[in-house]
Amino acid sequence: MRPDELNPLFAETDGLDGVGPKLKKPLEKLGLTRVRDLLYHLPERFVVRRAVHDLDEAQVGEQVVVALTVTEHRASRSQRGPYRVLASDAKGNVCALTYFGRASYTAKKQLPVGEKRWVAGRLDQYDQMLQIVHPDHVSETSDGAMGKMVEPIYRLSEGLTQPRVASLVEQSLARAPELPEWIEPTTFDREGWPAWRDALVLAHRGENAKARDRLAYDELFANALALMLVRQSNKARKGQALQGDGHLRDKLQLPFPLTGAQVRSNAEIAGDMAQASPMLRLLQGDVGAGKTVVALEAMLVAVEAGAQAALLAPTELLARQHFETLRKLAAPTGVETALLTGRDKGKARESILMGLLDGSIDIVVGTHAIFQQSVSYKNLGLVVIDEQHRFGVSQRLMLTQKGKVTPHTLAMTATPIPRSLVLAQYGEMEVSRLDELPPGRQAIDTRVLPLDRLDDIVAAVGRHLETGQQAYWVCPMVRDSENMDDDLAAAEARYAALRERFGDDVVLVHGQLAPELKDSGMARFAAGEAKVLVATTVIEVGVDVPNATLMVIEQAERFGLAQLHQLRGRVGRGSEKSTCLLLRGNELSETGKQRLALMRETQDGFRLAEEDLALRGGGELLGTRQSGDEAFNIASLEQITRLLPVANADAKLLVEQEGGLESERGKAARLVLYLLERDWGVQTLRGG
Ligand code: ADP
Ligand code: MG
Repeated sequence: MRPDELNPLFAETDGLDGVGPKLKKPLEKLGLTRVRDLLYHLPERFVVRRAVHDLDEAQVGEQVVVALTVTEHRASRSQRGPYRVLASDAKGNVCALTYFGRASYTAKKQLPVGEKRWVAGRLDQYDQMLQIVHPDHVSETSDGAMGKMVEPIYRLSEGLTQPRVASLVEQSLARAPELPEWIEPTTFDREGWPAWRDALVLAHRGENAKARDRLAYDELFANALALMLVRQSNKARKGQALQGDGHLRDKLQLPFPLTGAQVRSNAEIAGDMAQASPMLRLLQGDVGAGKTVVALEAMLVAVEAGAQAALLAPTELLARQHFETLRKLAAPTGVETALLTGRDKGKARESILMGLLDGSIDIVVGTHAIFQQSVSYKNLGLVVIDEQHRFGVSQRLMLTQKGKVTPHTLAMTATPIPRSLVLAQYGEMEVSRLDELPPGRQAIDTRVLPLDRLDDIVAAVGRHLETGQQAYWVCPMVRDSENMDDDLAAAEARYAALRERFGDDVVLVHGQLAPELKDSGMARFAAGEAKVLVATTVIEVGVDVPNATLMVIEQAERFGLAQLHQLRGRVGRGSEKSTCLLLRGNELSETGKQRLALMRETQDGFRLAEEDLALRGGGELLGTRQSGDEAFNIASLEQITRLLPVANADAKLLVEQEGGLESERGKAARLVLYLLERDWGVQTLRGG
């Protein structure tokens, strides 16, 4: 149960002044549904203004506060034209305050002729005349203006304005209680950090490295602590030693010899499973490295030893694919496999549930449905988690702790996370690395092209299709972004355009589609009926169509390197040479250029991940995020690298000193687990 003192923070935003049905939607779009979310909606940056006596002191382009006396109102002759208020400074310099559209009504009210006003805004020049377009603030007193020298700029969605968000944040701050300190006293003193509530206030008021660090630390600490609690409870639980005799694995008829890395990983996994304490192992392998066979062998070990195995996939689509692959590979062994997803209903579902209960099903593949209350196993010995949402792994570990005996757990990730981040996202797991690709893979010819050359590119796709091969066309769709609707529209428009050119052979798959439509689109593409798959990043998660050898990625600069790498890994899976075209917009930043160049240069996922970290890490303190799937919302990469070791050490100390979190500090630490939504960590404490 969440501690009572946090209740005001978890109250819905409804209770705040000004939040009605109209505002709720844009707030929800940003993930701001509770007071707590607003507190942690930290400014992206700040506008810092300078008070000047007169405009001679100011530079064009500068954010200023200046006292002006209104001299004249000038409406434009055309209806669409701007409304200008002329005003002069202390030295008689004339400046136009320019308003468009309905904003002129405000101007008429705020700026009567002959009156002096303090105006805050960005000084521009237009036709030899100084001007401020839509001043940010107009105040009758200098005090009013001086309160606005530093102002936070928040991420918005359509329907929200800066003042509105700022007011909601202010109200939320007013509701934030002082909380007891959970930070290790030595760390707290050494860093000289503010207390939790003060840190929030400071972080919203101006650039404050200490405040931001403290909040980032909290997030890292909460995560580390939750992971450690899970780990601790896992260790304390009874597992079962599963010693396979090889009789099933011997029957496999793989069409290829295993790579050295696969053999090594298999041995590491089998070694863990032979122990009574439950395995917690991460199998890290680049796209195409061959994780599926490793998972299969691990599952066969469990079955050889008389237990069952389950494979959990992040999406319906991927569950189906895994199931098909595993069923074929496992056919010679005679093990019974089944697929269970949320969509299976009625009799079919009943019979699978029976099979799991009586043990006639050895291996089940599915989505989270395989862990629902209603699903019981005869003897679940191994859970393989093919995960996508990084820290979700640990959350899912909780699911595996329901039975009397804790199954062994193998988490698989295709994200080549740098070593420094594995700990942050997974906690203290053993790691097996597939650092060797199966032989015979061809390099993917990667090119960066400007979007201007769209016609050429479409023509190239046409030539490609004529050879009988297929192509992916990826459009960006960044989750949680205010542009999500635009992104969706753009993907649909591209789909329509390509369909006009290539006919019914084009299918569209994106996250907003009904699951059935998604699957049928994918199925048509996988079967070779559809030639072009237009998709948003849903294809990232492991689709395998060897005949698709061309990938076009639009607005490639909007993707992270790791993500681009994942996407590119969808091609280059067959014997034909593959190509990846990265289309870039015209306004590409220096970092953007470097990143795309790196994609051209290397195909080593681990290297790309390290470089991505290096390129994004520095100076990203107030940076914006690219996608919504990061494990951490507050800590930047730079902060993760710098503060994680401290947070980890502190969490470890706390767990060692008082695993049950019953002391004063332990109770404070519970607060931060709830506050940062890592309370799955607390749940291991109860009943365990
Ligand atoms: P991922 O690690 O991305 O899940 P998969 O398990 O899907 O990779 O394997 C990618 C492809 O490589 C599959 O078609 C698989 O059959 C093949 N493969 C796996 N291991 C080997 C190997 N040792 N030699 C050749 N091909 C392999
Ligand atoms: Mg895979």
